Amino acid sequence: LVEIRRVRKSFGAHQVLRDISLEVPEGTVTVLLGPSGSGKSTLLRCINHLETIDGGRIIVDGELIGYRQAGHATHEMTPRQIARQRRGIGMVFQRFNLFPHMTALENITEAPVGIARIPSATAKARARELLDRVGLADFAGHYPSQLSGGQQQRVAIARALAMSPKLMLFDEPTSALDPELVGDVLDVMRELADDGMTMIVVTHEIGFARGVADQVVFMDGGVVVESGTAAAVIDTPQRQRTRNFLESVR
Ligand code: ATP
Ligand code: MG
Repeated sequence: LVEIRRVRKSFGAHQVLRDISLEVPEGTVTVLLGPSGSGKSTLLRCINHLETIDGGRIIVDGELIGYRQAGHATHEMTPRQIARQRRGIGMVFQRFNLFPHMTALENITEAPVGIARIPSATAKARARELLDRVGLADFAGHYPSQLSGGQQQRVAIARALAMSPKLMLFDEPTSALDPELVGDVLDVMRELADDGMTMIVVTHEIGFARGVADQVVFMDGGVVVESGTAAAVIDTPQRQRTRNFLESVR
């Protein structure tokens, strides 16, 4: 579903992504590991149009991200075309950036009603289903300030799912949470994976990677150092840099 080919990205003179290639088949979960500054967030942001790449290409569901092809020529996309591509990709960040002045239900229906023009009643019914799915059926009327961090993050997941994305990106979704709240969020993500969602997850939760990831990718210094199954990368890493990193997070 996702094909990343030789992607490069610099901020000024700082080359953050040097040459990243990776494939994520439909219905699989890829966990991205790597030390701080290795470019994990930047890579996710490039997939979701929050950054533009300097070289290489990213293809999601058969479409070049940011460009359209007519014959042999490629053209930059219009803002409207970019918005359409972004709608197919859900993203959940470290900080649950819910709208503070909206209830859980309103946070979830905002994009379906405001952007996808889904009738309000339909969007609300779907939002209630999604709240139920993330274990928050009784919290529809709560504002973010009335929810724990873990509950807010589960609302954020439901909000992303409300646009029926083909792909979900998670950028350290549990690293801002109190330890006792992490499990509920990981459980929701695990169920999503079991339901066949294609996911790319940046996380230091090694247990989650072991249990859920079809592919683990270790990045450092803007390159993929090592990738493979969790058993290969986590349990029998081939590269010293991978071993050093795993020791630091265990
Ligand atoms: P962390 O584990 O700390 O989240 P990361 O692997 O997600 O790290 P990135 O956030 O992708 O790393 O950042 C990679 C490098 O790019 C860092 O050195 C960061 O300072 C730099 N960087 C990221 N975004 C920008 C930006 N908008 N402008 C300039 N430099 C940036
Ligand atoms: Mg990051």
